[in-house]
Amino acid sequence: MGESKLFSAGRALSIAEVPQWDVVTDVAVVGFGAAGSCAAIEARYAGAQVDIFEVASAAGGSASLSGGEVYVGGGGGTSVQREHGFVDETEDLYRYLLMSGGPAADQERVRLYADHAASHFEWLGAQGVPFKGTYLPGKWIEPTTDDTLIWSGNEKAWPFSEHAKPAPRGHTVEFKGWGGGKLFMEKLSERAIQLGATAHYETRAICLITDQHGAVKGVLVRKAGEYLYVQANKGVILCAGGFITNRAMVERYAPQAMVCEQFVTGGNDDGAGIRMGISVGATTLNMHEFFATLPFFPPESLIKGIFINERGQRFINEDTYHGRVAHYVLRQPNGRVWLLVDNEIFGRPLIQQDITIAAVGETWEEVEAELGLEKGALVDTVATFNRYAAEGQDPYFHKDKEWLRPLLTPPFAALSYCQGDIEGHAFTLGGLATKPTGQVLNADGQSIPGLYAAGRTACGLPRWGEGYSSGMSLGDSTFFGRQAGRHAALESED
Ligand SMILES: Cc1cc2nc3c(=O)[nH]c(=O)nc-3n(C[C@H](O)[C@H](O)[C@H](O)COP(=O)(O)OP(=O)(O)OC[C@H]3O[C@@H](n4cnc5c(N)ncnc54)[C@H](O)[C@@H]3O)c2cc1C
Repeated sequence: MGESKLFSAGRALSIAEVPQWDVVTDVAVVGFGAAGSCAAIEARYAGAQVDIFEVASAAGGSASLSGGEVYVGGGGGTSVQREHGFVDETEDLYRYLLMSGGPAADQERVRLYADHAASHFEWLGAQGVPFKGTYLPGKWIEPTTDDTLIWSGNEKAWPFSEHAKPAPRGHTVEFKGWGGGKLFMEKLSERAIQLGATAHYETRAICLITDQHGAVKGVLVRKAGEYLYVQANKGVILCAGGFITNRAMVERYAPQAMVCEQFVTGGNDDGAGIRMGISVGATTLNMHEFFATLPFFPPESLIKGIFINERGQRFINEDTYHGRVAHYVLRQPNGRVWLLVDNEIFGRPLIQQDITIAAVGETWEEVEAELGLEKGALVDTVATFNRYAAEGQDPYFHKDKEWLRPLLTPPFAALSYCQGDIEGHAFTLGGLATKPTGQVLNADGQSIPGLYAAGRTACGLPRWGEGYSSGMSLGDSTFFGRQAGRHAALESED
């Protein structure tokens, strides 16, 4: 993790061990990514002196590699939703987000976000992030056009569609090609600097500094081999990302994510922020949760296929968000799963062109035999699926009729989603327990004075892998980064 033997993120320094203060500021922000930039902007708006410490040589973090897509809506609709005829009531966004948070959803956090997500979108625009304002229909992992509005989650899919009126809520920065997050972050980081925040690059936050009462008073950083003691009079905000690159932490806290060998990260998600929080008594939430995807489409036609496990049984509506599909795939018995397709819908997934084709046949019986499945297991499943699909129905998994079509045109094939053949992509969703203000909480649910966290260092809005939608992490990081920046600057008690 690049830390000295003397100091570690897991052990806070006592103020008594501080020889001198090398930097004195109001708000020290650790990490200049999505959450850190927005925390810095709001803290500056509130009049605080802000110093940002960033281990990389430039701002951006994982967010600068991202698709630059934020999940927003409500209030009757953002300006873009309304322009394209989508009404998105706050209560629908609220219900959707609550469901997306899973069993441990945080109602207070969801309420705050749902009430203010539409105005947060306008705020991002006001900071200089460009949105073209156009709508792109269809199903996308990440748009490569410069359009704005897309369907980016489970909104139209069962069971979500039964609980909240669907609306497209992915709002993407105006950028052609993959990786619009670069532009997104250029704009936000430029804004923080324009407003007067001071950025210290190639400067790693090493550990927190506390007083005799356990209040956080500063942070020790290292730049070019030298240690600097930073006094933060109003607070330290940890915005250092999650822990997907720290395999020891993943093994300990989120072992199911170990099968995903592709890390969705800018490279510095080593859990340092979370460990710093733990070192001063913070509690953590949902550390086992992670976003995962096995991007099985585009081409969109593959959504019309059906996933089966080694018992020949279906287990998911394939039109749901690809990350939700991935979680279901990953937990099938013995990690053995195939996507069944016929000749009309066959294609190779864009992101995994070298997918293993485990079986091909002129009949489903041949495919079943080639996969070595129990006689009748696959054939019966396909026959049942085909019978209902012909009527536009899916009584067991409720796949929408837009994606229902009997698999009748030979040759038939089984694309392998068996462990060993797949490339799982993941980042972590668990982190420090915080209030929606960003104040970090201890095991008794009390805030730790002087300590805030946002983005993937905290357990935020996206906290359940099965409920994640594209845009939720940037939406959460930017929105709750703002809350933390403002509260730290104003030193609010609650
Ligand atoms: C390819 C890709 C596509 C994605 N697409 C999307 C998308 O379209 N929409 C979406 O919502 N999410 C997307 N994500 C996820 C999203 O980018 C991240 O979850 C999000 O950036 C988290 O924000 P953050 O502020 O917590 O972390 P980051 O943006 O990663 O910022 C953390 C910063 O902290 C720095 N840091 C870490 N440790 C230290 C330390 N000890 N001292 C100082 N600095 C430190 C890091 O270098 C980094 O700059 C994508 C991610 C990737 C990689």
